[in-house]
Amino acid sequence: MMTTVKMDGLEYRLKRSNRKSMEISIERDGAVMVKTPYQIELNEIEKFISEKNVWIHQKLAKKKAINRERPKREFVNGQGFLYLGKSYRLKFFDNAGIKSGKLPKAEPLRLWRGYFELAESEKANAREHFISWYKKQIKKQLKTRMPRYDKRIGVRVKNIRILNLGHRWASCGRNGIINFNWRSVMAPIWVFDYILVHEMIHLVERAHSDRFWRLVSRVMPDYKEHASWLNENGADLDL
Ligand SMILES: [Zn+2]
Repeated sequence: MMTTVKMDGLEYRLKRSNRKSMEISIERDGAVMVKTPYQIELNEIEKFISEKNVWIHQKLAKKKAINRERPKREFVNGQGFLYLGKSYRLKFFDNAGIKSGKLPKAEPLRLWRGYFELAESEKANAREHFISWYKKQIKKQLKTRMPRYDKRIGVRVKNIRILNLGHRWASCGRNGIINFNWRSVMAPIWVFDYILVHEMIHLVERAHSDRFWRLVSRVMPDYKEHASWLNENGADLDL
């Protein structure tokens, strides 16, 4: 018999069987499984879970770290790719007519009517096309997002560079330069804004000091929500 219980924001699969003791394990899919004897009260189970709380969270964190190393997206029809927190499926279009000059030249990759459309002949360069598309979108987004914050923070961003920063979302250089990870625009817009605000405030306060976080929360009172979204979902923002 299998049921689920919720505790402290985590869901546990509960399996009662003919056994003498309780046992907790992490399943392949990341679910937390609690095996217990038939005759045991729910509060006993909850007590057992809370005693194992640290162990459970360590195991789950490890599992996440492992998943992080696995690229999941393939450049095939129907595969979902992220933009501003939403997933859009990839669709190839036949560009033979374009190549032969019978049709006007089109972008090799575009987001069009809810699909990412990539030219069939550009399949081998799909990754490069996605990366340059993301870079273009960041520039476009920054043009509208930056004016929301610069006066409030009192900084002027002199230059933005969009780079491959691996697992870092952004960094801030000297002289008013901010470096953005091209993956950052896969996050929802408010999370993207948090990345931006975080770096803009670094231009006035370099350290993660109390003053730094005070300034962040003044500009973006709900920043903690976006920061933790990034912690939990950041590994998925990749190709
Ligand atoms: Zn920082």
